[in-house]
Amino acid sequence: MPSALGYVGITDVVDIIATSILIYYVFVLIRGTRAVQILIGILVLVALLGIATLLHLTLLGTILRLLLVGAAVTIPIVFQPELRRALEQIGRGGFLRWERNGSEAGRGEDRTIVILAHTAFLLVRNHRGGLIVIEQQSGLKDYCESGTMLHADITEELLLTIFAPDSPLHDGAVVIREGRIEAAACFLPLSEQSRVTSRLGSRHRAALGLSEQTDAVVLVVSEQTGAITIARAGLLSRPVDEEQRLVKMLLAVTRPPRQRRRRGDLIAHLRSRLRTQRGEPASRVS
Ligand code: ATP
Ligand code: MG
Repeated sequence: MPSALGYVGITDVVDIIATSILIYYVFVLIRGTRAVQILIGILVLVALLGIATLLHLTLLGTILRLLLVGAAVTIPIVFQPELRRALEQIGRGGFLRWERNGSEAGRGEDRTIVILAHTAFLLVRNHRGGLIVIEQQSGLKDYCESGTMLHADITEELLLTIFAPDSPLHDGAVVIREGRIEAAACFLPLSEQSRVTSRLGSRHRAALGLSEQTDAVVLVVSEQTGAITIARAGLLSRPVDEEQRLVKMLLAVTRPPRQRRRRGDLIAHLRSRLRTQRGEPASRVS
């Protein structure tokens, strides 16, 4: 009796493993997005089409086939932001990397994050609103250019000045890039999630909107309620009411500035010392 293994070649095994890996990564990419429900919907349609074909239900089969063709045409349009984010992630090589979630949660104090968290609570104390975008791997150049470029060192005083009600830059979002204030008064895309948009104001919708289209982390301080929330991957956190907790949450979802991440510790240390002591001879850097 020929064994079943006789029919299975090495290419079949490789094919099955590669397909499984592909399906796994597609799930990882769409996890937590509205694409999951749509995918389930499509799988149900395909299953029904299979049953209709088996039972020779011609009319039902034709209707289901038409529905699937319609879905194939409309999905790229409806999911343009999600597809863009997924393709960007693949382009950056993030597709084959393990999810970063939590893996950097243990990294030490980050001066930028500490300043941002402290500023958020100062804004609440002063009954002001704020919208701060922390750039991750998706480039935010287009959004920066919708506002005013600053390229400034990050300080609490500057952030408070920007969000002061009579400041010409208070309207819109501040973008933080590699530990610096890249731009202010930036316009962000509004979320169109119907589930949440009806109960949210435009500041929160803008934070959610950007987090749907990019991997940016957005810190929102509500002027009306004084609630501090974080938008990320199309989701808005619960209000955070403790500064240390906000620091921890931000550290867990952001990556460290590039210099520290990419270069050796010694070079990064020397460079940061050089920057802070600008004007002094390099030989004094220990
Ligand atoms: P709050 O809780 O602070 O009132 P909200 O979510 O109710 O926030 P709005 O009151 O509608 O939002 O808007 C407050 C501010 O949010 C605006 O003055 C503006 O500075 C900022 N904002 C609104 N939409 C955008 C946008 N698309 N991009 C950037 N900033 C925006
Ligand atoms: Mg409001």
